[in-house]
Amino acid sequence: MRTDGVLSGLDPEQRTAVTAPAGPVCILAGAGTGKTRAITHRIAYRTQSGEISPRHVLAVTFTARAAAEMRARLTSLGTSAVQARTFHAAAMRQVRYFAPRLLEGRQMPELVESKARLVGLAAARAGVRADRAVARDLAGEIEWAKSSLVEPGEYAVAAAKALREPPHEPARVAEVFAAYESLKRRQGVIDFEDLLRAAVWGIEEHPDVADQIRAQYRHFVVDEYQDVNPLQQRLLDAWLGDRDDLTVVGDASQTIYSFTGATAGYLIDFPRQRRNAVVVRLVRDYRSTPQVVGLANAVIKQARGTEAKLRLELVGQRRPGPEPELKIFPDEQGEAAAVARRCRELIAGGMPANEIAVLFRINAQSESYEEALAEAQVPYVVRGGERFFERPEVRQAMVALRAGVRSIPGETPLVEAVLEGLAATGWHRDKPPPGGAAREQWEALNALVTLSQEYASAPEFLPIGEAGSVQRHVTLAMFNDELARRAEQQHAPTVAGVTLASLHSAKGLEWDAVFLVGLADGTLPTTYAKTPDQLEEERRLLYVGVTRARRQLWLSYGQSRSTGGRPRRPCRFLPQLDRSTAAPERTVVDRSRKTDRRRVQVALCRICGATLLAGADRKLGRCPTCPSDLDEDLHERLQVWRAATAAELKVPAYVVFTDATLVAMAERRPAEPAQLLAIAGIGPRKLGQYGEAVFALVAGASPEEVAQKNFEN
Ligand code: ATP
Ligand code: MG
Repeated sequence: MRTDGVLSGLDPEQRTAVTAPAGPVCILAGAGTGKTRAITHRIAYRTQSGEISPRHVLAVTFTARAAAEMRARLTSLGTSAVQARTFHAAAMRQVRYFAPRLLEGRQMPELVESKARLVGLAAARAGVRADRAVARDLAGEIEWAKSSLVEPGEYAVAAAKALREPPHEPARVAEVFAAYESLKRRQGVIDFEDLLRAAVWGIEEHPDVADQIRAQYRHFVVDEYQDVNPLQQRLLDAWLGDRDDLTVVGDASQTIYSFTGATAGYLIDFPRQRRNAVVVRLVRDYRSTPQVVGLANAVIKQARGTEAKLRLELVGQRRPGPEPELKIFPDEQGEAAAVARRCRELIAGGMPANEIAVLFRINAQSESYEEALAEAQVPYVVRGGERFFERPEVRQAMVALRAGVRSIPGETPLVEAVLEGLAATGWHRDKPPPGGAAREQWEALNALVTLSQEYASAPEFLPIGEAGSVQRHVTLAMFNDELARRAEQQHAPTVAGVTLASLHSAKGLEWDAVFLVGLADGTLPTTYAKTPDQLEEERRLLYVGVTRARRQLWLSYGQSRSTGGRPRRPCRFLPQLDRSTAAPERTVVDRSRKTDRRRVQVALCRICGATLLAGADRKLGRCPTCPSDLDEDLHERLQVWRAATAAELKVPAYVVFTDATLVAMAERRPAEPAQLLAIAGIGPRKLGQYGEAVFALVAGASPEEVAQKNFEN
């Protein structure tokens, strides 16, 4: 039977979910336990066994990237005819299709992608002061209200109930909200929430539309269901009608969109609301090493609130890997430079660039990483995706491809046509520039070529009703339409580079190596998070970040924003990683002289510049994972000399110098007192006692010679 392959890579619980009969299924599980795997396999299983037709499945999720990930997984399971998209994309497609009928011939209104500008105008109308930042916050309030099905007249009460903290008095916000709605109507534009409302309205108020949509979509799957908001839930209910063939999966501990109106409530209540639901819980983490899983468990263990109630402790299934590293840098610039250097090393060591991600709390943090990576000649791609189709070179390429429809013969295979079209812009596939912005531009256009390859092999996007009549030859004109559609939906293709993304947009995704940067209090949690609920959401963001890593996890922050700035504290949700190992050393240091203490506090890795916390690392003068430049011959001579000296003094060897100190000396080759004193743990007493010997050894003397001299003195 064709379904064997689909079932083979699943554990018993996953299999229960995959093979459950038609009807409600709810998978409640932690990060990396195979939720997305289970739903994609469930779709494949049901379509391949002939139970359902792939054309009747609608799989939805929340970010374009997650939808792309779902499509990719479905394609690799041989189920590419299934529609997997975001709520917005699904709604857009339906509204556009039905617009002529619903709007009686009028054009579909234009979609405004960002509310802030219109909200600014609305605020001015309502006599409410709003600079750009306030306009953005007001837009956030309006978005929350509309996603929560709250009308302007209901805003003040609803906002108080939800403990919102609007930038102005609730009554004034409501006025801006009302002004915004009427301004929008007058300008003939709609926003994203209107789009969802239009889809709901189309179905709820038009039986013929409802019939047609429900004939098309009969089986629903929602990934990341903890992030559904009331408006999206209403659309989902409209799609379903009185059917109940719905599979939802989610993890309440990964609820990170509550500020926009999303709520894990629908997920948590699902089993109660649908008594016949098959409920499956998964705890085996297949994504990450036990080290990463251990940190993830430690982060979420402290969580409080409703979302934390269903929390399960993850059990790592993978082979052990390196410990997560916590690195502290004097400033953000140093942090970014060190991250870029490490990325370069990983890539030089054979890790594909697209298996690496740098994740941050807010998009503005992206810029310093873009700069540092470009400087280090590391290819990268900025996620959030929306930037892709805004890039000038991409726009220019799209113009060239449209022109190509006229100049390139229609029967040319798509990929060739795209290559030819792009050549007109001066781009050549076989001439990638080495790095920096030029490389980035090249990668962006190369991504268009890759997209054309994918598209030529699976033209997944055919209008409703035409899905049965698959055309053989995919033309450049069709591809151009696809690009235009994606540009509209801000759906960027994957390019080969290190991913730069916000924690929000990284949900559901995974990489071999993940850098969580800027983990300072004030950034994560953001200063805007004040209520306990808001702080819990910030904690969950860190949890989402940690659980993106398969193997290598780096956590870092810059002590000050810029050189010499005010020092910041590490993210409060981080468990005591290195800091616990640093503690004993501190007490020793506290008893020693002041100068020593100062030196200890600012110990930096001489290779990457990170602040060193653990005693052993401070002694080494570098992070244990940074490359060593140990002089092996010197190390051996130091060891022989130490053994002889310890024997002579009748003390254990470590009393002379510890192993870590020997390594530090063999790496740093101190040639004078100041250099020896710079090694943590060596004070004036050791300098007086052994300084001469060490300098002689560093200068090349044999241990026997030096030991001899020792005794002569
Ligand atoms: P998230 O909560 O982050 O969305 P998830 O629960 O959706 O995570 P998946 O992305 O489906 O988890 O799976 C995580 C990783 O583990 C993927 O690489 C997946 O292929 C792998 N995986 C899942 N289940 C199994 C399994 N039974 N055997 C081997 N690998 C698995
Ligand atoms: Mg997932």
